[in-house]
Amino acid sequence: MNLKLTTITIAFALSISIYGQTTPRLGPGRKYTSIERLKKERLEAVHNDRARLARERKAVSLATGYNDYRAVLHAHAQDATHTGGSRPELLDGAKRAGVQIVMLSDHVRPERDFINDSWRGLREGVLFIPGAEDRGFLSFPMNSIKALAPSSREEYIGVVRRDGGNIFLCHVEERTDWPTNQLDGLEIYNHHSDVKNEAAFQLWLQGSLTDPVRLPELVAALAEYPEEVIGAQQDYLSDIIAKWDRDAQHHRLTGVAANDCHHNQVFTVTAIDENTVEVGYITSKPTTTRITADKVPGVAALVRGKKPGELIARLDFDPYERSLRYVSTHILAHELTEASIRDALRNGHAYVAHDWLCDSTGFAFVALAGGKVKAIMGDEIKVGGALKLSAATPVKCTLKLIRNGEELQTLAAKRLDFEVKTPGVYRIEAWLELDGEKRPWIYSNPIYVR
Ligand SMILES: [Zn+2]
Ligand SMILES: [Zn+2]
Repeated sequence: MNLKLTTITIAFALSISIYGQTTPRLGPGRKYTSIERLKKERLEAVHNDRARLARERKAVSLATGYNDYRAVLHAHAQDATHTGGSRPELLDGAKRAGVQIVMLSDHVRPERDFINDSWRGLREGVLFIPGAEDRGFLSFPMNSIKALAPSSREEYIGVVRRDGGNIFLCHVEERTDWPTNQLDGLEIYNHHSDVKNEAAFQLWLQGSLTDPVRLPELVAALAEYPEEVIGAQQDYLSDIIAKWDRDAQHHRLTGVAANDCHHNQVFTVTAIDENTVEVGYITSKPTTTRITADKVPGVAALVRGKKPGELIARLDFDPYERSLRYVSTHILAHELTEASIRDALRNGHAYVAHDWLCDSTGFAFVALAGGKVKAIMGDEIKVGGALKLSAATPVKCTLKLIRNGEELQTLAAKRLDFEVKTPGVYRIEAWLELDGEKRPWIYSNPIYVR
């Protein structure tokens, strides 16, 4: 969750009536708005469906021949004043969430070298690869590029890719017209992109911090259903997926997930006097804003019976462990080394999954001939003979086979088999139903049938 709650936005949120300002547009699969999804009965229903899926989950029988490593790309730690988390904290979260690869995306600051002043290599079983969020890209060069000053976008891409560096288009919603032919891939899901178009939801959350009814409800919801709360605004980012489908018809293009975790959605509400609360936003540079009852009448009820300085509420929406479980990129590789992971990403041997819904580990999408795996997601293969595309998931779901951006086949199953006769860019989406809503769960990378 990225509620950029600065002093300015608090003032803005509190100066207008915040409920029902806009009619939110419901995304694919949705029945409820993000605000509705935060109601106790909705959270509980999603929680129960997650528990059911966890019980039904079975190992996938279709083997890809690779290990399935859970990776997080686009992760922030001690890289900006608006970031709250540190690298040791991120490592701890990764171990708890079962994430084996962390690809950092530091905000670039001139005094620091995001390659040489960062973490690289294995730490307590977690592989770190340093990188940056820079000039519209997630950049993972092999060596420092600090002293270089590429003058054009093309030159910059060349500098990052030199000797095997990786580069992905980032925050694609701002760059749907940028070319991708020189890139390894693009973010097909970014958590921040998903939240930032939900103005009504963000204002509702901000307003809840000084609402005597909603604040205790939110505190209780976060304590009891933390993952459902952070997952409440999860959507299918149609415009970004459409760009991926378009561009992938011209060149191979690896879809990755951007976690965009910062551990910076931590808020406190403290009593000051019988008319005032202080709302704190905790990052590496904490900010506080005082709000009085003459501006927001609910404040009087919030502070009633509280001593000056008494903490009324503390809400930590996004500890790393929780963010890391929310979305990740599963990488299919033979070993947990930087070289092997970089290769796998270049080759599209990866899929994106919202593992908070259900652990997707073991998901397979392969091309088979004569019962043998001839290609896995990301690979190219020639049409001909008895070529079959097969997908398998750990639980029954809605499986969609997509060719060149068009839905070709949809079925409720945990296995899909399709005889390929026509060249095209084939990929799989798996959707799960929770609380009566269809939610995107897995996005495979394409198999390119030539
Ligand atoms: Zn940031
Ligand atoms: Zn970021």
